[in-house]
Amino acid sequence: MASEAPDHSTWAIVVAAGSGERLGADRPKAFVALGGRVLLAESLERLDASEWIDAVVVAVPAGWEEAAIVLAEELVASKVAAVVTGGATRGESVRAALAEVPDDAVVVLVHDAARPLVGGDVIERVLQPLAEGYEAVVPGLPLPDTVKRVQAGVVAETVDRSTLVTVQTPQAFMADALRAAYSGGVPVDTTDCASLVEARGGRVRVVDGDLRLLKITTSADLALVESWLAEA
Ligand code: C5P
Repeated sequence: MASEAPDHSTWAIVVAAGSGERLGADRPKAFVALGGRVLLAESLERLDASEWIDAVVVAVPAGWEEAAIVLAEELVASKVAAVVTGGATRGESVRAALAEVPDDAVVVLVHDAARPLVGGDVIERVLQPLAEGYEAVVPGLPLPDTVKRVQAGVVAETVDRSTLVTVQTPQAFMADALRAAYSGGVPVDTTDCASLVEARGGRVRVVDGDLRLLKITTSADLALVESWLAEA
């Protein structure tokens, strides 16, 4: 599908190629029902509606490419420029999608389809600091609970949680920094793209995250996000 936007400088990648085994559904997580449509619809529609995003690439499991194309057409998500087959890990799915991002893209936003409630505010928060010289920007949340490091079931240390955050998506990147991060092999245990940028010495800014960017893992998460959607 060709996008109609002439100047593609900010691209979004939506990784939706996970199996979602922990949900126990008969289909990949991105295609389970959420509020009367498939989960992926939420992120696609919201990113498509963002004035900050010029084009979108989606990575889906093998065999679900056509379903994603039809979904984008139904949503009239005209910024969806490509649907690719994801890889065995999240990192491999990002890499496959990044290959569809043109060389002249300046900024790339990477988002998990498993976090459907991506709002315009957080998109703006992660994009803004890139202009201040950061290579990447991630949304983070403070930890509400006490944190302990545990070894073999015994507390080794109580950690100072004031310097810790849990990190969400969307994560924003200078396109060159993200390409460089993926130029080598993707370590199998990489759960976010920013850690690859950090490993190369890149400066990664943390901005306020959003509780509603909860990553859907279990059916209880799905029910909670569904209740938030119904409230909205
Ligand atoms: O499995 P988990 O929910 O942590 O995955 C985070 C995101 O990465 C999800 O949106 C999922 O679809 C995506 N993913 C992917 N390819 C994989 C594994 C996960 O696109 N092989």
